[in-house]
Amino acid sequence: KQSWLNRLKAGLSKTSSNLTTLFVGAKIDDDLYEELESALLMADAGVEATQILLNALKKKVKDEKLTESEQVKNALRTLLIDMLKPLQKPMVLGRHQPLVMMIAGVNGAGKTTTIGKLARHLQSYEQSVLLAAGDTFRAAAREQLAIWGQRNNVTVIAQESGDPAAVAFDAVQSAKARGTNVVMIDTAGRLPTQLHLMEELKKVKRVIGKGMESAPHELLLVIDGNTGQNALAQVKAFDDALQLTGLIVTKLDGTAKGGVLAAIARARPIPVYFIGIGEKIEDLQPFNAEEFVDALLS
Ligand code: GDP
Repeated sequence: KQSWLNRLKAGLSKTSSNLTTLFVGAKIDDDLYEELESALLMADAGVEATQILLNALKKKVKDEKLTESEQVKNALRTLLIDMLKPLQKPMVLGRHQPLVMMIAGVNGAGKTTTIGKLARHLQSYEQSVLLAAGDTFRAAAREQLAIWGQRNNVTVIAQESGDPAAVAFDAVQSAKARGTNVVMIDTAGRLPTQLHLMEELKKVKRVIGKGMESAPHELLLVIDGNTGQNALAQVKAFDDALQLTGLIVTKLDGTAKGGVLAAIARARPIPVYFIGIGEKIEDLQPFNAEEFVDALLS
């Protein structure tokens, strides 16, 4: 446990070097609040979350008559945890058989890697897993998923070419027939501005629902934690198109933009089921607001 927390800390240290050093021996005055404001904005917390945090902090300092900078830092810690707590919701397994998850995101966000990690994670909870290579554009993407399938010893449903909706449909049928617990459907990376590709995702979702009425049960967006406000824009656009049920934030082992979670909490409080903190199979952890904030402020 220590090692991944350290990795999160090291990653977020680019964000938090500003956030932590500014409190050291500081006087509690307008300069401090100004520095804090720019540190939060630089961490991509966004204007709204930053203002809310600053105002709440000033009020707390006044109400509780805080005089030491360390106390102010602790107050900020509490406020940040309160802000991020709504994002902390565990993914509930076993609600459906199979539980069908569709995974979307822009190219390079870490979708395929995350599916591989998540397959391992689910297996550790005694869940059998089936993967569907819904990225029918890139052969390389199918191969990458096949490798993760081998690593986890799980079946990957793929087709040489063709319709991602058909692959998804087949995967659900196959999981039903085999009694598999979880189906994870990969999709090709796309930008929310590529409207025809967003329509294609909606179709995949619809067709999955034809194969199993209640499905997909999870609509997950994978976002790259390095991309800050851009990631927030992706959350909004994909949520508008698909009604997301959860987020996975990757690459928090190397980011200066950890504040984006605060922005997401304000703008679209969609559960962050997991965070990615490395490229290896074990580098996926359930999101915990307290751990995250402590890593940010340590
Ligand atoms: P996709 O295009 O969304 O499927 O993205 P990939 O899964 O291919 O990942 C793109 C790159 O990001 C690969 O080099 C991954 O190893 C890397 N990656 C994915 N998740 C993480 C993470 O949590 N931390 C780090 N450092 N790299 C990651």
